[in-house]
Amino acid sequence: MSNSVKYFVGNWKMFGNTRSFKIIDKIDQHFRKDKKNNRKYKVILAPPFTLLQDYSRRFQNKKVIISAQNCYHKDNYGAFTGQVSPYMIKKMGIRNIIIGHSENRAMGETNQILEKKFLLASKNNLKIIYCIGENSIEKRKKKTLAILKKQISSVIKKKHYLKKVIFAYEPVWSIGSGKVPSTSELKRIVITIKNFIKQNFKSNSQVKLLYGGSVDQKTIHNFKSIKELDGFLIGGASKSSKNFIDIIKNFYK
Ligand code: PEP
Repeated sequence: MSNSVKYFVGNWKMFGNTRSFKIIDKIDQHFRKDKKNNRKYKVILAPPFTLLQDYSRRFQNKKVIISAQNCYHKDNYGAFTGQVSPYMIKKMGIRNIIIGHSENRAMGETNQILEKKFLLASKNNLKIIYCIGENSIEKRKKKTLAILKKQISSVIKKKHYLKKVIFAYEPVWSIGSGKVPSTSELKRIVITIKNFIKQNFKSNSQVKLLYGGSVDQKTIHNFKSIKELDGFLIGGASKSSKNFIDIIKNFYK
């Protein structure tokens, strides 16, 4: 395990109501009590838009950081029914956002749209968790690295954006399926992608990269030895405070 600060990020997707803050409260309490390890990690939780305003106030002075799950690719205000701009997210007091989740890509988000979202999120000083990942067909055809490189280079065009982003490698075939890559396969991909980013942007600065896909209390053991990983993006298991806390506990066990 490396000494770098790890991120445990929960993505609630289309889940949660006004009472679900209790889940985050319990995670926050665990964080405060976990004196042995809590300087080693950060916790970010991404509830749906309906809860952002309330949770942004409620958790303002807490350790858990609240994030948005997505934004529209146009800024400020406008005639875009059902959409929420990066500016509106910032005005709610939110400082973090997930962009490029495969479930949104599957609904039509292209790399071109994601480039716009990325620029606007960054213009609004949001810290971006940018998701990349291959699907099962691409994996079978051994196109994983080519897909990941394209998803990175066609969206992030300037070196200074590297400071604003945490990458999240989420193989689409792993999300919600219970299947995870082998430790050696994941380690190889993480190292290759980090090196690619550094070379592509001629940057020596630290690149942060999370893994996401069926991370739970059990599978977390597979990833503990990958010191190049900077943390985890967790879907299903983040809806339960117990499961989420057990992931953190098992990681540091
Ligand atoms: C996700 O949707 O980002 C995710 C990683 O989901 P799960 O943990 O449920 O596979």
